[in-house]
Amino acid sequence: MPETNAKPSAAWLDDHYTALSPVLKFMTDIVVDRGEGSYLIDVDGRRWLDFTTGIGVTNLGHCPPEVVAAIQHQAQRLIHTSVTAHNTPAIELANKLRELTPFFDDPQVFFCNTGAEAVEGSVKLARQATGRPGIIAFRRAFHGRTLGATSLTTAKGLYRENYGPLLPSVTIAPYAYPLRYGGEQAATSFALDMLDELFELDAPASDVAAMIVEPVLGEGGYVVPPVAWLRGLRERCNEYGILLVFDEVQCGMGRTGRFFAAETFGVRPDIVLAAKGIASGMPLGAIIAERSTKAKWPMSSHGSTFGGNPLSCVASLATIEVIERDDLLDRTREVGSRILERLRDIAATNASVIEVRGIGLMIGIEFDSAQACERVQSIALDEGLVLLTCGPRNNVLRLIPPLNASDAEIEEGLTILDKALRG
Ligand code: PMP
Repeated sequence: MPETNAKPSAAWLDDHYTALSPVLKFMTDIVVDRGEGSYLIDVDGRRWLDFTTGIGVTNLGHCPPEVVAAIQHQAQRLIHTSVTAHNTPAIELANKLRELTPFFDDPQVFFCNTGAEAVEGSVKLARQATGRPGIIAFRRAFHGRTLGATSLTTAKGLYRENYGPLLPSVTIAPYAYPLRYGGEQAATSFALDMLDELFELDAPASDVAAMIVEPVLGEGGYVVPPVAWLRGLRERCNEYGILLVFDEVQCGMGRTGRFFAAETFGVRPDIVLAAKGIASGMPLGAIIAERSTKAKWPMSSHGSTFGGNPLSCVASLATIEVIERDDLLDRTREVGSRILERLRDIAATNASVIEVRGIGLMIGIEFDSAQACERVQSIALDEGLVLLTCGPRNNVLRLIPPLNASDAEIEEGLTILDKALRG
């Protein structure tokens, strides 16, 4: 195999922009050689503290030894079968996911490869299970890049522009965003009123199969909604026989301090979607729902070649085992509130910060402009801390550290951020 560090970053970047389609925007010029826990090491030998975790994926840091060992062991036994033969890691993982979703009575799992695929599958499932076409999604949500998922995505106009006509029968309702709509109570009343109006005027409830919601808004700005709003969605779904889909692709698998935000908020969905952090970077998505719902999905009416492949499933099992063994959910809640508290102090030094918010290790700093946000991001990067932005105007800086980042690593990140915010 070629040595990746045989060339400097600049030469790799030249090759990259020659060979790779520019549609995929990269957020830094780091050309990575390897990952070690909370750090990326680039081909020039520089170490970067990574508080992006590959967009909420490498929840145990890069290349956790238990996950690497599980993949290596499995790779020597079986890499792929698809539906030709049952594979035991997929069965074991599905059983484990049943345990991790205590808000369900008797759930079943469908495996796919990505978040967007999980979203698409949930729309198909909801339509089959209800015999209705309509889908309600919420403004600023991100559900993926495939055409169906794009139709449900309003995190940025750019993600939809020139892709129409998109999926019909999709209606977009406001997301209860406290900062935008006058605080928790006002945001809840406004968003629920608008939803009720929408049922009355544009999307008769009897035509609606599902509501799909991110229980914590990810790409749309790291917004934690009021629990009362999520409960309001549940109540309306009960009243009208609509399926409530929680897209936990970004906020699931431990990010909020429980395996699923449904548990964190105490609101029961009918369908839960997982991907990203589920397998520490191996591609895997899951659609989890009650057996009674899954029974309405006719056999062979949906499928996947790679979904639930043994390598991804053992990576997921090992990831979950480490989260449980090391009490990382407790740690996520504890470290998350510590970071929030510190950040609220630190952020007071920067007049452009309008809100620091978050839950668990999903933390956002909203600025009054993209320039102010990107300036802090860029100073932090110069100092060796990698951070991503989000929000429709790229004015929210997000912190997504590994769930097992050490106290020293968290401190290192906050010290850099302190300097960047003052800068
Ligand atoms: N849903 C949510 C909430 C997401 O954050 C994302 C990815 N950012 C997706 C779906 C799509 O996932 P993928 O990129 O794996 O298709």
